[in-house]
Amino acid sequence: MQIPFDNRYVALGEDFFARSTPTPVRKPGLIRFNDALAGELGMATDHDSASAADIFSGNTLPEGAEPLAMVYAGHQFGHFNPQLGDGRAILLGEISGADGARYDIHLKGSGPTRYSRTGDGRSALGPVLREYLVSEAMQQLNVPTTRALAAVTTGEAVVRERLLPGGVITRVASSFIRVGSFQYFAARGDYAAVKQLADYVIEKSYPPLADNEKPYAGLLEAVVQRQAALIAQWMQLGFIHGVMNTDNMSIAGETIDYGPCAFMDAYQHDQVFSSIDHHGRYAYNQQPSIGLWNLSRLAETLLPLLDENPQAAVQVAHEVLEPYAGRYESHWLAGMREKCGLTACSHDMDGDDKNLIEDLLNVMADNRADFTLTFYFLSHLSGQPSEQDDDLRDLFDDSAQIDAWLEQWRRRLGLEVQGDAARQAAMQSVNPVYIPRNHQVEAAIRAAEDEGDFSVFHELHAVLQKPFVRQTGKDRYMLAPEPEEVVEYTFCGT
Ligand code: AMP
Ligand code: MG
Repeated sequence: MQIPFDNRYVALGEDFFARSTPTPVRKPGLIRFNDALAGELGMATDHDSASAADIFSGNTLPEGAEPLAMVYAGHQFGHFNPQLGDGRAILLGEISGADGARYDIHLKGSGPTRYSRTGDGRSALGPVLREYLVSEAMQQLNVPTTRALAAVTTGEAVVRERLLPGGVITRVASSFIRVGSFQYFAARGDYAAVKQLADYVIEKSYPPLADNEKPYAGLLEAVVQRQAALIAQWMQLGFIHGVMNTDNMSIAGETIDYGPCAFMDAYQHDQVFSSIDHHGRYAYNQQPSIGLWNLSRLAETLLPLLDENPQAAVQVAHEVLEPYAGRYESHWLAGMREKCGLTACSHDMDGDDKNLIEDLLNVMADNRADFTLTFYFLSHLSGQPSEQDDDLRDLFDDSAQIDAWLEQWRRRLGLEVQGDAARQAAMQSVNPVYIPRNHQVEAAIRAAEDEGDFSVFHELHAVLQKPFVRQTGKDRYMLAPEPEEVVEYTFCGT
């Protein structure tokens, strides 16, 4: 297999990483290889599954790889840890994709590195399958994300609460630099390294900024913009990241580190799934403000680069962070309007539309209505009440509440110029019918871990490839879980 490596992170110097080779596994087996993605990346894909399994388990190093573990720090649940780093992941190398952009190729679960602390450097199969399914679903849902290139079994067990089969996932990101990467050097007062890292990030992820008069303020502003847009998208899909530690926030604005992440079924403003998020720090409705908290930590690391004068630097940081809330709000409102089919809008309608949308969310919360199905069924309703309303009404225990809301919504549709058909098509292009529901991801993991049966995983993956298209014979994938199927908690699986 030919991988067009173009490694530049290594040139930053040994302070930025520890050279580290994957630890071979006993019996690598290919679960899935993402041929489409490999093609986009310009990789020659005339491989057999045995050689792909060898490479993406870490048993064989592809030509041109310069494997290393990146160092970073991070605030974990608000507490600063000055040294984390890739403890169970390895950057195989960077490539220039067929589209001319640069990408990082990472193995996760590939054995210990200098940064493993007490961990084994491994991953169980479950988290590998979850990350594959959810990250590829996010891609199809048009949310910026790391991609999944390959998943393999290792033929070895990993020790967690019990013995579990091991796996390795190969992830591709436009960058694996995190807010925590900057924090590592800033915490040591090594601002020469912060600058080196910032220059590397600009060159790789924000090339137009290289010519900016104030490139570092520009960098902070660009990251603020991407995160505001990203988190708004999560909110519009009912996605809960689960561990928004600063080491899990990408400098390139992609969703990274799928651990205990989950999509909500029944709507609840402060939903939490992660078994370790005891105080709800990363609850659904906390995500926008945690985004700002993390970006403020990034700003702190950049202060000496923003201005020589410390007070002036703080002033610059404030000016760049200040618009985050407004940006987030406007992304959120624009996206929620699309979900509700409201295209005729002007600034003086913002308040009314926001109230209308929040009223819907409140009615959903009161009735624990399914988030995805509410918007999916809403996308099929016409401007006049009809029998079809019942699909939506059935999601609500108190149908009087949703009836009252529908009346307001239809009144608002009166301001629209587009007809029902155009509005419905537009709504259906943003309101998915399929998301990776927790209970289905769990079923795929159970079949694979307990029975060695990957067919459930492959079928779910296939359905999620077209999340906006209702597929014949696949209705069970759109359904909310039965009470006995509900997943209450998700786990990092570390
Ligand atoms: P995460 O919660 O997955 O973002 O991981 C936080 C930190 O713990 C990172 O530095 C990881 O590399 C490290 N880590 C997580 N699991 C393991 C493991 N099994 N072995 C070694 N390091 C790990
Ligand atoms: Mg992480």
